[in-house]
Amino acid sequence: MRKNLLIVVSAPSGCGKGTILSEILKDDNYHFSVSATTRQPRDGEVNGVNYHFLSREEFERRVENDEFVEHAEYCGNYYGTLKSETDQQLEKGKDVILEIEVNGASQMMKLRPDAVFIFIAPPSIAELERRLHKRGTEKEDVIKERVAQAERELSYAPKYDYIVVNDALEDAVDDFKAIIRAEKCRTDKNK
Ligand code: 5GP
Repeated sequence: MRKNLLIVVSAPSGCGKGTILSEILKDDNYHFSVSATTRQPRDGEVNGVNYHFLSREEFERRVENDEFVEHAEYCGNYYGTLKSETDQQLEKGKDVILEIEVNGASQMMKLRPDAVFIFIAPPSIAELERRLHKRGTEKEDVIKERVAQAERELSYAPKYDYIVVNDALEDAVDDFKAIIRAEKCRTDKNK
C-alpha cells in the first residue's frame, strides 16, 4: 500500500509560495495543515481557515499540553503545527502540507525524517527585491528587512530535499507536482 506523504514547505516571503500552494491545494487529496499563531489576524483572514489565532497564554498552555508537533518564534510571535492537523489527517488518508518557517522545518527534519522537505526559492535576491517593490505594500525599510530575512532563510535551503525555483509560476507548480509524484513511487513508500 502507498504511504501518505507529509510535505514540509518553506519559502522566504515574496517567493510566491501562497500562489503555488493554492494551485496544489485544488486537489482534494491534500490537507493544508492550519497552524496556530499568536499574531493578530490580517484583513480577510479567518480563524480556523488561515490560522488558529490564539493568545500567548493559550498557546503556552497547549505547548505544556503537548499538542504541537513543532513550534517556533518568528518576528515576535509564536507559530506551531498542531498534532490534530497532521497525524489525524495522515490517518484519514490525506497527504498533509505544512507551510512553516526554517526553524520549525529543522525540528521536523529530526522528528519526521520520512517527510518530504521542499524549499521554494526566488530566482535571485535581486528579483525578490524587485517583486517586493512592485507589490508596493511595504515601505522601503520593511523591504530591506524582508530581503535580509530572505537571505538568512535561503542559507537553510541546502538542508531541504528539493528546491523549487519560482521563476515562472506554471513551471514551479509543475516541479512541485513532479516531486510529489516521484516521492509516491519511492520503494520505501510502497510497502
Ligand atoms: P505569516 O505571519 O506571514 O503568516 O507567517 C510568518 C512565517 O511563519 C512564515 O514563514 C510561515 O511559513 C511561518 N509559519 C506559519 N505557520 C507555522 C507553523 O506552524 N510553524 C512554524 N514553525 N512556522 C510557521
